[in-house]
Amino acid sequence: MTQLYGGLEAGGTKFICAVGTGPQDIISRRIPTTTPIETIKRVLEFFKEHPALVAVGIGTFGPVDLDPSSPTYGYITTTPKPGWQFTSLAGEIKKALQVPVGFDTDVNAAALGEYRWGAAQGLSDFIYLTVGTGIGGGGMVNGKLMHGLVHPEMGHIRIPHDRAADPYDGCCPFHADCFEGLASGIAVAQRWGQRGEMLPSGHPAWQLQAKYLALAVSNLVLTLSPQRVIMGGGIMEQAQLYPLVRQHVVENLHGYVQAEAITRDIASYIVPPRLGKRAGQLGAMALGMAAGGIDP
Ligand code: ZN
Repeated sequence: MTQLYGGLEAGGTKFICAVGTGPQDIISRRIPTTTPIETIKRVLEFFKEHPALVAVGIGTFGPVDLDPSSPTYGYITTTPKPGWQFTSLAGEIKKALQVPVGFDTDVNAAALGEYRWGAAQGLSDFIYLTVGTGIGGGGMVNGKLMHGLVHPEMGHIRIPHDRAADPYDGCCPFHADCFEGLASGIAVAQRWGQRGEMLPSGHPAWQLQAKYLALAVSNLVLTLSPQRVIMGGGIMEQAQLYPLVRQHVVENLHGYVQAEAITRDIASYIVPPRLGKRAGQLGAMALGMAAGGIDP
């Protein structure tokens, strides 16, 4: 029997469970996010249908506790999502399935998937940024997923906010006009009175959006010196954003970062995930493979 790896992409509106061995061999199921008890029960039902499962990876919304020495390791911690504060996720799944469980943020999981099969193959330092309802970022430094004190929260960095050009106050409950507060899907919908997918591709919303995205990416390039920046999430389905973001990043850096990736080949530097919408579930599976002892 071929050994199978499980991946759980745990999101605020849906959990996607997957089993398989890679992008060519994957079965998945979508479960709506309700209460922790009901949602985890349905996740376990899915995984128990696959007796060849040898390890599971979980990439989840957060914030999460990633410190293996902590009593709340594997928990979703202070999330604003009602009912989900201090939910033991990795522990419950490990206890029920009795297999090794890998656990990380949704963005680090997606980053690992892109490292294993996608746009970050062969790189040691890169960023994976997701721009959707919220904004999150992860990736690798020196060939290892970024953790540190807790885990990066790139969605909440500060970027310049020109209130004359954009009087919108921002929607982050913690910081108002941080990056997520200005550039998440919620911010787009509140500022323009319509959800992003309803706005035409030539709408001025996208010019402003590209400026904010480029300001954040420029800061991250200067701080972390990534070899590539992968940008996914619902908002980035607006493909017109990529050339605009690339152009603004080059302008912002203004010739200071002398690397051909930026000065000559920016189109290969700021890219969409090669695994597309499956980056999250495949990334979770990659975390499972790592937990099962298979190096990426
Ligand atoms: Zn914030």
